[in-house]
Amino acid sequence: MLEEDMEVAIKVVVVGNGAVGKSSMIQRYCKGIFTKDYKKTIGVDFLERQLLVNDEDVRLMLWDTAGQEEFDAITKAYYRGGSFEAISSWWEKVEIEVGNIPTVLVQNKIDLLDDTVIKNEEAEVWAKKLKLRFYRTSVKEDLNVNEVFKYLADKYLQRL
Ligand code: GDP
Repeated sequence: MLEEDMEVAIKVVVVGNGAVGKSSMIQRYCKGIFTKDYKKTIGVDFLERQLLVNDEDVRLMLWDTAGQEEFDAITKAYYRGGSFEAISSWWEKVEIEVGNIPTVLVQNKIDLLDDTVIKNEEAEVWAKKLKLRFYRTSVKEDLNVNEVFKYLADKYLQRL
């Protein structure tokens, strides 16, 4: 049971290959804006947003991993093997480094996807395989972004 008036602070780390929209998603969620080039202006390690989940005050601290991707072996694997191979690599990395934590798989930029593109379904298949909650988002059009973080906050609170 949580003490009354106590704020819960949750650290959320956004991982993935370069240019998938991680920084943009954080900026969209915390500042409500979308820009073509955000990295040059970020200047901080994380942004935060407060929300209310079941009457609990929750503070989400969203950490960006921007700028490290090019040095990462996972990204190299991605360039060799295609983007969907990277999903399981990132998942393994999360499992190894932080263990069992609330996790979602996000397919961003759905505004760019044509429904007839078969790969559209591939991320969802991976999500099922890895037993991850799956969201399709468009940071640009502000589709489903809030839902991702609400889900994570809910999941986290259920464990307290
Ligand atoms: P990161 O390297 O994963 O942090 O990716 P960025 O946030 O820097 O985004 C890379 C590029 O994709 C930027 O030009 C963004 O404006 C763009 N972008 C991010 N999200 C979306 C989206 O949902 N739709 C579209 N069309 N572009 C996006």
